[in-house]
Amino acid sequence: MRLVDSHAHLEDLENLKEAIHRAEAEGVVAIVTMGSDGKSSLWSLEESKKYETENLRIYPAIGIHPWSLNAGNLAEDLRFIEENAYRATVIGEIGLDYWYRDVRKDPEKKEKQRELFRRLLEIAKRNNKPVSIHSRGAWMDCVEITAEMGVKRAIFHWFSGPKETLKSLLDYGYYVSATPAAEYSKEHREVIRNTPLENLLLETDSPVSYRGKPAEPADVIKSLFAVANLKNVDEEKVAEETSENAREIFKINF
Ligand SMILES: [Zn+2]
Repeated sequence: MRLVDSHAHLEDLENLKEAIHRAEAEGVVAIVTMGSDGKSSLWSLEESKKYETENLRIYPAIGIHPWSLNAGNLAEDLRFIEENAYRATVIGEIGLDYWYRDVRKDPEKKEKQRELFRRLLEIAKRNNKPVSIHSRGAWMDCVEITAEMGVKRAIFHWFSGPKETLKSLLDYGYYVSATPAAEYSKEHREVIRNTPLENLLLETDSPVSYRGKPAEPADVIKSLFAVANLKNVDEEKVAEETSENAREIFKINF
């Protein structure tokens, strides 16, 4: 089986080298590593390749996560993304998070997030790059803004939004990526059930913890099994289709 982890944060993993070997042993042939701010985007572009092996390719994504909005020097980070977008495979992780801290009740903070999101989508569009989107609690705004900005290739990572939003996202031809939370999260499971295999990718969001255990790219096998189970399709077919989808949306070859 050949698997793709379409959304991970490799620079945050402990013992990355060993984790890569375990991923390889599970059949992972490609990983897209996200950038969350200027610093991690730089790592993604310049350091991540050093961990590639003969059988496992690593592709860089660069972006500014909505949680990083006030963390660093935003103007500087944006300039970095703008100037280096042509070198990245994906623009991500970008998006909106209305459940983050006190954002929920603050229309001004929401607007700030949307402003940043639009700028990053604009960069993706100009460079003809796909995007990996974080949409927690801002499901419909994320879908609508992405469509409004004219971005054609978008993955809604770990999508757990309501049915109507999923429908709209699929109508635009966008994708959803499944994490190991597809084993137990009611909302995420419902999304996977209602997403056709042609619109699905697999991911881990490593090193995020699932049921108390930090994930690594080898855990993409858990996402695979959960999807196969929910859709009642055999694992080989899920692996094949999701990897084909990854090749298509990322315009990569492995
Ligand atoms: Zn992530």
